Amino acid sequence: MITIHDKTFQLYISQSEIQTAIHKLATQLEVDLKDQNPLFVAILNGAFVFAADLMRALPFDAPINFIKTQSYVGTTSSGTVQTVLGLNENIEGRTVVILEDIIDTGHTLKKLLQILTDKGAASVKVVALLQKPDALQHNDLEVDYIGIEIPNKFVVGYGLDYDGLGRGFADIYQLKEN
Ligand code: 5GP
Ligand code: MG
Repeated sequence: MITIHDKTFQLYISQSEIQTAIHKLATQLEVDLKDQNPLFVAILNGAFVFAADLMRALPFDAPINFIKTQSYVGTTSSGTVQTVLGLNENIEGRTVVILEDIIDTGHTLKKLLQILTDKGAASVKVVALLQKPDALQHNDLEVDYIGIEIPNKFVVGYGLDYDGLGRGFADIYQLKEN
C-alpha cells in the first residue's frame, strides 16, 4: 500500500503485467503499422513513462513527438476550447499514432483526433495503456490498441498522478475505498 497526500492506494497492476501488455502492443503495432512509417505522438504529462517503455519495446525505429493538450475558456460562447501545444511536425499525409496513458470519458481523445485530422493526418491511431470502458462517453470513439481494461476506479503510478504526485511508482495502484 502507498499513501499520496490524503489517500491510500493498493497495488493493482504489477510492473511485469504492465510490461507484458506493452510488449503485446509493440508486436501488434509492428505488424499493423511498420510499413506506414508512423509518427508517434505521446500526450504529456501522464503518458511519458508508457511512451518510454513502448518505444523501447517497439521492434522498429520510429519518430516520436510529445504534446500537451490545453483547455481554456474562450471569449465566445463556445465554452471550453482545446488546443495542442508542441506539435511542430507537419503531419499532413502521415499515419499518426497517439500514445495515451488512460482513457476515461474519452473527451480528451475525441478533441485530439479532431485536431489531428484537421491538420491533415492520413490516419490517426490510438494506443492507450489503460481504458475504463464503463466510463466512456463517446460510443463512436475508436481506440485501436488497448493494453489493459480496468474498472471505473481512480489509479495512480506508472506516469499517472494524484494531484501531482505518484507518477514515479513502477506499478499501478488503485484508490482504496475507506
Ligand atoms: P478523459 O478525457 O478520457 O476523460 O480523461 C483522460 C485523462 O484523464 C487521462 O489522460 C488522465 O490524465 C486522466 N485520468 C483519467 N482517469 C484517471 C485515473 O484513474 N487516474 C489518473 N491519475 N488520471 C486519470
Ligand atoms: Mg493524460
